[in-house]
Amino acid sequence: MPQPLPPLVLVLAGHDPTGGAGIIADSEAIAASGGWALTVPTALTVQNLHDVHRVIPTAPDAILAMVEALNDMPVAAIKIGLIADEATLLAVENVLRRFPGVPVVADPVIKAGGGAELSTPALCQAYARRLLPLVDILTPNRFELAQLTPEIEAVDDDTARAVALMSQGCQAILVTATDDPRPSSDQQQITHTLHTPDTTRQWQWPRLPGVFHGSGCTLAASLAARLAVGERLLPACEQAQHFTWQSLSHGYHPGRGQALPKRFFDAHFFTR
Ligand code: PLP
Repeated sequence: MPQPLPPLVLVLAGHDPTGGAGIIADSEAIAASGGWALTVPTALTVQNLHDVHRVIPTAPDAILAMVEALNDMPVAAIKIGLIADEATLLAVENVLRRFPGVPVVADPVIKAGGGAELSTPALCQAYARRLLPLVDILTPNRFELAQLTPEIEAVDDDTARAVALMSQGCQAILVTATDDPRPSSDQQQITHTLHTPDTTRQWQWPRLPGVFHGSGCTLAASLAARLAVGERLLPACEQAQHFTWQSLSHGYHPGRGQALPKRFFDAHFFTR
């Protein structure tokens, strides 16, 4: 029986050759969450499971041409990942302006899990000013949230930071706290918090052992797919977290470097 295409998610993100993060991660998470990814790389990267060594941004005209060539494919949601310089930022802004009304999930990529800097304070400022008004939901971790709101002095006031970003035009913020450094935070549980203008909602998840590569990409891409299939924001956030937790709990631990999510943990055709 011929099948119709699942809802399409346009992904503008970096390529990570390990497949743990970036557009490969997004593509897997989107397929496993009921969508189909259209992948436009914003950058190539040189990296392994330890750290990112180099970022090579895509030429802005190539980004625009790749998106243009897909113009007979109806995009149901957009996911934004790594944006490595201001020229890429302008190209991504230009793309977003072509899709009014299509939900946009943006995962700010500021620092790699291995420690490499993937943004700058000036780029964070431009990101907040140019992209946030076009974003439906932003998915920072606590570190990224703080980098995007340097004007807020109270170190632990995530709500003030989320309100500041929403006042710049972003509709909602899902803050992940896997990286929560507070000594007071529960080491066995992690808490993710959704901030919208009307409500705040928290979810707790048992902390998994290990350090994972690409957990943020997995969450944001799954969320974009759930929005593409027509899920409302709150259940979409919940399903994407559940999917990410399952991908991590079934993840591969290579023994050296960061662990890799297994996003097709539910695929059974081959048993090994
Ligand atoms: N490389 C690319 C292309 C990414 O998009 C990201 C994160 O989104 C990373 C590397 C860093 O991944 P992690 O923070 O999981 O190490």
